Amino acid sequence: CGIVGYVGTREAADFLLDGLAKLEYRGYDSAGIAVYDQDRITVRKKMGRLINLLQEIKEHPVSGTIGIGHTRWATHGGPSDINSHPHTDMNGNFAIVHNGIIENYMEIKEELLKKGVVFRSETDSEVVAHLCADLYDGDFENTVRNVLRRLRGSYSLVFMSRFAPDRIICCKKDNPLIVGLGDGENYIASDIPAILSYTRKTYIMNDGEMAIVKKDGVWVTDLEGKPISKKVFVVNWDA
Ligand code: GLU
Repeated sequence: CGIVGYVGTREAADFLLDGLAKLEYRGYDSAGIAVYDQDRITVRKKMGRLINLLQEIKEHPVSGTIGIGHTRWATHGGPSDINSHPHTDMNGNFAIVHNGIIENYMEIKEELLKKGVVFRSETDSEVVAHLCADLYDGDFENTVRNVLRRLRGSYSLVFMSRFAPDRIICCKKDNPLIVGLGDGENYIASDIPAILSYTRKTYIMNDGEMAIVKKDGVWVTDLEGKPISKKVFVVNWDA
């Protein structure tokens, strides 16, 4: 129900947890983050209030300057630690967070099961992480585009990969998503309050657009990879 992402030079978890707290008003049943550091993606996720996740991270700290986070409002698969996001593929090469519903997840899941993919959750969202691994062609952006071509339904989606650890990719369909433009750091969120105390400069994402977010810039393309020049939207209200 809430999505955040961070790329920069500070500890990603600090922004991710703060951003998720700012989105708490939307309601949720579980929360989680994934952070990249030293060639691996580390996931911490917990059912229940954010305080449970904070406790988990206190016991098992994560460090790294790039990451994604999620608060979940379960639609497919009940609330549980395992059904919480982020979800990863079998080798931990890709991590994703998703708000919305993947309507054709069953068909994709059956196809991947036949290929020997092992699923850990009962969510519709997990197929997205495994599809990344299945369709990976050496180019993260291209792979995400090919994943999106397979999906039916509604989504805000954020992707990260061990194979391109300097960026996160996000896109949306019938669900809200914004990119916050910082100085040497950039943010992703499903709603403006999450980023307001960090920056007021944003790109409001539209359906059919994909943002490649790095610490020193944000590139927006259409789903064919053609560049789109976005207008900066400056938020002039307070949360
Ligand atoms: N459909 C997904 C799930 O049940 C995402 C729910 C959400 O939007 O938080 O895990």
